[in-house]
Amino acid sequence: MRTSIQYKGLTNGFVTYRACGSCFSMEVYPYMGFETGQQYECKACGMISSLIVEFETMEALQAFRKAIE
Ligand SMILES: [Zn+2]
Repeated sequence: MRTSIQYKGLTNGFVTYRACGSCFSMEVYPYMGFETGQQYECKACGMISSLIVEFETMEALQAFRKAIE
């Protein structure tokens, strides 16, 4: 019997799109922060921060990026 919940367990069961809080690139990756908690490194602008924005859909992200252009 197949299971249909293979993709659950990322964050709250939702797949979210992360974007840099500075340049809004999606080139953000988890960065190991030992004392400051979870942080992210942006490959586009080099920012290392916990300040990222998350979107539940690609459409929401694209609409947001369009709005700030
Ligand atoms: Zn960035």
